Amino acid sequence: MTIGGEASEPRIKSSLSRLKQRNVAKIMHALYTHRQLTLAEVSSLVGLKRATVAVLLGELVAGKVAQENGVSQDTGGRHARTFGLATAAFRAVGVNLYRGGVQVAVTDLMGNILKFSEYPVAPSDLDLDALKETIATMVAMDPEPVVGIGVGVPGPIDLRTGMVLNPPNFVSMHGVELRTTMANWFGLPVVLDDDARTRAVAEWMLGSGRGHHDLVYVSVGAGIGSGIIIHDQIYYGVHGLAGQVGHVTVDPEGARCSCGNVGCLEVVVVPLLRSPTPDHRRIAELLSQAIIAVGLFIDPELVIIGGDAPRLELVVSIVAEEVSRYAPFAKMDVRAGVLGKNTAVLGAAMIAVGQFLNDPKVAMS
Ligand SMILES: [Zn+2]
Repeated sequence: MTIGGEASEPRIKSSLSRLKQRNVAKIMHALYTHRQLTLAEVSSLVGLKRATVAVLLGELVAGKVAQENGVSQDTGGRHARTFGLATAAFRAVGVNLYRGGVQVAVTDLMGNILKFSEYPVAPSDLDLDALKETIATMVAMDPEPVVGIGVGVPGPIDLRTGMVLNPPNFVSMHGVELRTTMANWFGLPVVLDDDARTRAVAEWMLGSGRGHHDLVYVSVGAGIGSGIIIHDQIYYGVHGLAGQVGHVTVDPEGARCSCGNVGCLEVVVVPLLRSPTPDHRRIAELLSQAIIAVGLFIDPELVIIGGDAPRLELVVSIVAEEVSRYAPFAKMDVRAGVLGKNTAVLGAAMIAVGQFLNDPKVAMS
């Protein structure tokens, strides 16, 4: 609530522009999701009058954000022009900061990687100046505008302030105000998120979960985390902590975890994964316990398991078997992620794209 002070006219203008921004965002999302739509189809999908859509679409085309991309024949045999977003005419930058290195990708709006860079860095030694230089070099020769930078880091992070808090074994990032720092580098919007969520977004938008609206992605590697998508939105919870599946207790007699509890999935499974002769069935059974719990609470269409753990396909097939044996979840599909080692960096780029679709100020200025 705003208290006092503001003149009435600017307030009306600003609320009109917010309404317009919301409507533009709806149109952009529809065009992005369906790739190619007639004016009538956009109008029916977003629930706005054709005249309103025509004006806003006209502005998007004039701003080169959308374009005519063909004709379609309606049921009466008439031809109608179709529109889509100019997805190849914009760039997003994805950055994945992990314990051991940095990945940077420049993509178009559809997640096609146009440039990629990866270099090793010790977790105690991450140098932000080097990262700035890498991004600057990668976008320098590209004439297309960059809509934003998405960054994935190991959590926990404060989503409100954009600060990395205290991820274990990643001391050089502790207390770094990463979002503000990076936004100041190039004057671009920066979106920061936990790397389990960026992976979830990648598989949802570009991989195993494409076309689905409700899913849980479980990341299994140096840690275990998850990202939850509900009704086509990332679900964060009130404190930004939703999805801490690595801290579900699976062994009440197990080792103590950094969170203070004992026998969390992460502290039990990660050492098993690192064993020279990993017991994949045991690993899968432990993961299944947690995934069944997730299923009980969320009831998703599917669970995607991805991450850097070796022999993950084998683990996923055993988890799928275990989950299907648990009768109430016979319909919960469990499958492996398909995007491989670029999952996190692609997801980082895609959260920047998502931000652009939600708040297309860059496009409409
Ligand atoms: Zn824990």
